[in-house]
Amino acid sequence: MSEPTNFLRGELSLDVDMSRHVSWRAGGRVARMYQAVDLADLALFLRTLPQDEPLLTVGLGSNLLVRDGGLRGTLLLTHGALTELHQEADGLLYAQAGVPGAKLARFAATHDLIGAEFCAGIPGTVGGMLAMNAGCYGSEIWDKVARVQVLTRAGELVERTPADYAIGYRSVQRRDDDGEPFPLPTDELFVGVWLKFESGDGAASRLAIKTLLEKRVASQPIGTPNAGSVFRNPAGDHAARLIESCGLKGCKIGGAEVSQKHANFIVNTGGATAADIEGLIERVQAEVAARTGIHLHPEIRIIGEKQ
Ligand SMILES: Cc1cc2nc3c(=O)[nH]c(=O)nc-3n(C[C@H](O)[C@H](O)[C@H](O)COP(=O)(O)OP(=O)(O)OC[C@H]3O[C@@H](n4cnc5c(N)ncnc54)[C@H](O)[C@@H]3O)c2cc1C
Repeated sequence: MSEPTNFLRGELSLDVDMSRHVSWRAGGRVARMYQAVDLADLALFLRTLPQDEPLLTVGLGSNLLVRDGGLRGTLLLTHGALTELHQEADGLLYAQAGVPGAKLARFAATHDLIGAEFCAGIPGTVGGMLAMNAGCYGSEIWDKVARVQVLTRAGELVERTPADYAIGYRSVQRRDDDGEPFPLPTDELFVGVWLKFESGDGAASRLAIKTLLEKRVASQPIGTPNAGSVFRNPAGDHAARLIESCGLKGCKIGGAEVSQKHANFIVNTGGATAADIEGLIERVQAEVAARTGIHLHPEIRIIGEKQ
């Protein structure tokens, strides 16, 4: 952590329009948002907050919808705040929570480390990837974690190992002393991670990143605001296949539309409200359940109050 000071150096914003901070470009407002300048500053800020202040951590908002009625409490923005990224003497990569996945992938390749390529196509931060166990093309971030660094509500730094968590498909929970899983507490956040990647051919890794990104451009509605896959894939099947088989591609509520390009994506075609998007998610869920008997579970996070 950088040298602690006893004054805050970050930026506190009030009544923040969250549509500017989520990839869906829709949704309500949040009462307060703090963007720290570094980890020491964030720790100091947390210590200034009342114990009962609701907290939410946001990276790039690429998996998040804030309902139109907004959110009480304080949002901690890690993107642009926790940006440290380096290789340790023991070979592990240390990445702070606000580092974008694409930057991590490129950094690893530049240092002739392989296995981080999949992060290049995930438009979120390292912290968001840890909270979601983000992954694609057969890899998930927690496969690579040696240990994580967590900042508590009291502003203290704690290191934990993967054994302290119950990790599943797009799911991460903490374990209590008896090993029982419980939801990740919102009043502590991932601030950094040590990742292990094998040594290999950096040039081949850069080529793999390029191929992977081309594949995404061909198959996903990049360029129209979205939040990636809306639903988790049910066991043995694909949410996109089920949605398409129910004829729901192009189904619309207000400005929200089931993407014509990828049925598990909902795009904001312009002016969508969070209610449009949530309403469309519910309609897709109901139609797929009625026609196939399969209940799709959202992968994206929806928070805040309805209007
Ligand atoms: C075009 C597109 C493609 C995508 N492709 C993929 C994909 O292939 N695979 C995949 O897994 N996902 C994919 N996603 C979804 C998304 O990018 C990932 O879930 C990503 O990990 C979210 O990171 P974020 O920083 O944007 O998190 P946010 O959306 O900001 O937050 C998501 C959740 O994580 C929590 N969180 C964020 N940061 C922290 C932190 N530091 N500590 C604790 N909790 C935190 C938030 O509170 C929230 O609950 C895609 C999204 C888009 C838009």
